[in-house]
Amino acid sequence: MTDPTNTHHTNNTRYDSGSVATLLEALPYIREFHGRTIVIKYGGAAMLDDNLREAFATDVVLLKYVGLNPIIVHGGGPEITRYMEKLDLEVRFHEGLRVSDAETVEVAKMVLVGKLNSEIVQRLNRHGQAAVGLSGEDGTLFEVTPVANAEQVGFVGSIERVDVDVLNHIAADYIPVIASSASDRSGQSYNVNADEAAGKVAAAIGAHKAIFLTDVEGWLADPDNEGSLISRASVGEVGEKLPALAGGMRPKLAACVDAIQGGAQSAHIIDGRIQHSLLLELFTDAGIGTMVTP
Ligand code: ADP
Ligand code: MG
Repeated sequence: MTDPTNTHHTNNTRYDSGSVATLLEALPYIREFHGRTIVIKYGGAAMLDDNLREAFATDVVLLKYVGLNPIIVHGGGPEITRYMEKLDLEVRFHEGLRVSDAETVEVAKMVLVGKLNSEIVQRLNRHGQAAVGLSGEDGTLFEVTPVANAEQVGFVGSIERVDVDVLNHIAADYIPVIASSASDRSGQSYNVNADEAAGKVAAAIGAHKAIFLTDVEGWLADPDNEGSLISRASVGEVGEKLPALAGGMRPKLAACVDAIQGGAQSAHIIDGRIQHSLLLELFTDAGIGTMVTP
């Protein structure tokens, strides 16, 4: 523990050397990232716990203050499930995708856009940087078509095209917060995996980095063994392993590949259960989670 009296201004030759070292460690990163766009997929554990939600908002606002352009893309899986259960709707997944009939899509949209998106925006506003909420329909941000296995999963969309014009306008001044819902040309709504949305946004906007917060340490070689973290992999290595992957890690790694193919210098899957994992990843020498490189 740091001696708290050390930080008092009673003697100007004494200071908390740990804090100063941390700031100095951050400086080259702040310089490198200044003016850069960072796409952050917000989800998993970090969205469920109030302390983690506060820490996340603090981190994102700090990024904006020090000159980065954060863009948030969020899902809302557990919360959508909670509301579906309240409404006595059947919750079912098929190969990691939520089986979505018309009612499910309606509830998902209400929860994603009406509740979660608005809560994230409010929290960022309260921490001192104005945020603007968007969904896939705003400015025709996403154009979707039904996924290949729509027969099995219903109204689940895959993103065909991203129009970043609206995002560029908003990101110049505000923090865009994007809910992963969208419609097709006929106006039918679809559920869209938020990782896919984040990867596509990162690629389309030419993000410097994409960071995916989740509820595990990162990509595990063996999903049942927390000690099997893959801390670094190239796009080629990810591409080889992708077909064999299951569950939520598959769209996340596919999104990392999308981001890098779109020009990002790296994509990261990090542990959203750790407070301030975003700052640790961006501004310290400690590499956390899984880093995907070109
Ligand atoms: P979110 O998208 O909110 O981060 P998901 O549940 O969609 O959460 O994705 C994370 C989950 O993916 C983990 O909790 C884990 O159960 C699952 N998973 C499947 N395969 C792996 C793997 N190889 N490494 C890590 N997690 C995996
Ligand atoms: Mg997921």
